[in-house]
Amino acid sequence: MIIISDKAYNINMKDFNEAVAFHGHTCGGLAMGYKACELAIEKLGLSFSEDEEVVCITETDSCTVDAIQVVLGCTAGKGNLFINNWGKNAFSFYRRDNDTSIRLVANPEFMNVNPEMAELRPKVFSGAATQEEIDRFHTLSHMWIDEILNMPAEKMYLVKEATEPLPGHARIYNNVTCSVCGEQVAEGLAPVIDGKHVCIPCLRK
Ligand SMILES: [Zn+2]
Ligand SMILES: [Zn+2]
Repeated sequence: MIIISDKAYNINMKDFNEAVAFHGHTCGGLAMGYKACELAIEKLGLSFSEDEEVVCITETDSCTVDAIQVVLGCTAGKGNLFINNWGKNAFSFYRRDNDTSIRLVANPEFMNVNPEMAELRPKVFSGAATQEEIDRFHTLSHMWIDEILNMPAEKMYLVKEATEPLPGHARIYNNVTCSVCGEQVAEGLAPVIDGKHVCIPCLRK
């Protein structure tokens, strides 16, 4: 159990272990995502988004995103998570109810990973590492994760203004039948060609 803060806004924040259970493993990226949530909760007064009250736009598709899904309820299926694969540890959060938003960007000064880890990582992930090196890498990783989780989130992220416009609400369509394959398809995603609906995969053929 990690004591993050004694402030009221963190009382209902999901435990890091719940994010680990969803993600499948513990890692520095997941911890980074967890801390982004912590800071967003603090700055915007967010709570878990059961529907689309909270929206997140990420600029990475890394492990970080899974923590956001678990902790804030911005999920792939609800239309309140938008993933841009731009390779940046940056996350914009929006509250629909009061139109407030924030963009958190990983602080470059914080991102200087332990040089020993940086050296071991390519070896470990290419399968070229010895068992001793693998064990060392795991030990260092766990130390790094603990360090992240116990560090004030303000040190890890620069707080900026969100620049991307808040996306609209998720659209919900009725189904129609594709005139080519005969499968059901959401009406808004099946353009009408010669008076008949055609699904996107059939259009591509
Ligand atoms: Zn991971
Ligand atoms: Zn079709």
